Amino acid sequence: MSAPTFIPFTRPNFNQETIDAVAEVLRSGWVTSGPKLAEFESTLSEYFGGRPVRCFANGTATMKIALQVAGIGPGDEVITTPISWVATSNVILGVGAKPVFVDIDPITRNIDLNKVANAITPKTRAIMPVYLAGLPVDMDRLYAIANQYKLRVIEDAAQAFGSQWQGKRIGSIGDLVSFSFQANKNLSTVEGGCLVLNNEAEAKLAEKLRLQGLTRQGMDGMDVDVLGGKDNLTDVNAVIGLEQLKQLPSYQTRRAALARQYFDLIRTELKSAGLEDLNLELPVESFTDTNWHMFQVVLPLDQITIDRAQVMMELKDLGIGTGVHYPAITGFTLYKDQGYKTSDTPIAERIGRSILTLPLFPAMTDEDIGRIAKGLVGILKKYRKN
Ligand SMILES: *Cc1c(COP(=O)(O)O)cnc(C)c1O
Repeated sequence: MSAPTFIPFTRPNFNQETIDAVAEVLRSGWVTSGPKLAEFESTLSEYFGGRPVRCFANGTATMKIALQVAGIGPGDEVITTPISWVATSNVILGVGAKPVFVDIDPITRNIDLNKVANAITPKTRAIMPVYLAGLPVDMDRLYAIANQYKLRVIEDAAQAFGSQWQGKRIGSIGDLVSFSFQANKNLSTVEGGCLVLNNEAEAKLAEKLRLQGLTRQGMDGMDVDVLGGKDNLTDVNAVIGLEQLKQLPSYQTRRAALARQYFDLIRTELKSAGLEDLNLELPVESFTDTNWHMFQVVLPLDQITIDRAQVMMELKDLGIGTGVHYPAITGFTLYKDQGYKTSDTPIAERIGRSILTLPLFPAMTDEDIGRIAKGLVGILKKYRKN
């Protein structure tokens, strides 16, 4: 028997229409930011209920500009989560502010809103929550805290395009909401990102900040009045986004169906292996709020004799790719050198050590999920402590 095909943990999906649309832009004579970007931004604005939207070269630039639009800089503190892609706290450091890490909720794996008030000081200016795997936090709670303490909110919704809160799209409500269109995200422009803003004045500032701080007046008037960067999104990327938006509903349906399969088949496998007492933590079983950007389990490391890296190796030998999203940011050298300690956020430390991302992307088959559930539970059984 030949080896089973390898299932990566994720894979982008670009159809023929997307390839044709890119070719058309390349042939058009205008390839950087232009009419397709304007069309993408107005389509996104419609998608988010009419709020202003501006696009940027990537999600990291989008979050940086969100912080700049909110006026956050040296001397300011921003409350965030240690379980995220390091971009979240890197951009806080990048504008000269200080990230303050609050521990996570072990069920949602997002920032624990019950612990936010304790971390607020006179220097706190903003909260930057992250919607891990696309699952939003309790938005009513979040904005109640922000209003009470007069804080800005910069939502790192990089993973949450298409997610909802009580029937409302993430991005259609709230303060500044940042998305990423990086290759692995549910909606991808290869690289890219967008920011949902509150008003046209903020949108104008974001436009300046993404292009050297440039203002234009009249035909040949030009001035620079703020320090901007080079963070614009091109028409090539924008047209990919426009095509992806058309496919998004079918992607979302498929992702949710695959996630349901995971819940069913992992539970069935655990039961038939006699491992029901094994504390394998599954995600929040939400089929209304999350976009199923990822399906993540937390391994019962105290009940098995191997660590996460060994579990990943065993899965790889079965042709199953996995990922780690994410180790606690406070354990990285840059952060340790600034005095942060993973032990200050013990839940994040534990989950950062034991969380595992299983494959989930629209082109997967039901058989793939069966193979992964069987493979994972087989490994847990093999290495179970007596
Ligand atoms: C992808 C991602 C980002 C950054 O996006 P890029 O487009 O890669 O710069 C930020 N935060 C989170 C949680 C992400 O998943």
